[in-house]
Amino acid sequence: MKKILIIEDEPNIRELVLYNLKTNGYDGVAAEDGIMGITMVHKEKPDLILLDIMLPEKNGYDICKELREEGNNTPIIMITAKTEEVDKVLGLEFGADDYISKPFGIRELMARIKAVLRRYESTSGNDSHDTVITQDDLTINVECHEVRVGDKQIDLTLREFELLRYLVENRGHVFTRDQLLNNVWGIDYAGETRTVDVHIRHLRQKLSDGTGEDKYIETIRGKGYKAR
Ligand code: CA
Repeated sequence: MKKILIIEDEPNIRELVLYNLKTNGYDGVAAEDGIMGITMVHKEKPDLILLDIMLPEKNGYDICKELREEGNNTPIIMITAKTEEVDKVLGLEFGADDYISKPFGIRELMARIKAVLRRYESTSGNDSHDTVITQDDLTINVECHEVRVGDKQIDLTLREFELLRYLVENRGHVFTRDQLLNNVWGIDYAGETRTVDVHIRHLRQKLSDGTGEDKYIETIRGKGYKAR
């Protein structure tokens, strides 16, 4: 049974989500503030985190950032109260995998959870076809969900991993931002194309060897991106 942690200070939403997690076959656990949230992540080791942004003690952005910095790559769906693009993009900046805006329908939430978990399993499961993909000194082990540059292991979030894997699997092919959104995020993903740029930037930072030169991903002006 998959364990899902919701970090949310509004009791009504927390209870509603917990109830629906249980009726949908998940093991739901909850935290009501940021500090407790972090503690619960360490203690419960959830398979997925639903993370509210405005929280007492520590906000959702900081939690997200902190977890990613300590190398925790548990999938995170941010719950945002506002619909402004800035909130969505900011969440993704800090390493969230997806977001959902309040007020949201339970069916939509369950669909997002299922999609993120499925995506995560398909990249970390052991029934994969090609388990190791390489590009120069970059190695992507699909089975172990592990990326290395030379001997150095690189910590990526789920989406970063998926994006890199997709580009490298289709090396040399140029994809538009819309194509990447459709193929990596899913056809029904209502994201902004800037989301793609944010993830590419993160990938470049993480894969960088410090020379400032990007050896793996090329920007094709006016078109999109490709793996070199
Ligand atoms: Ca809140």
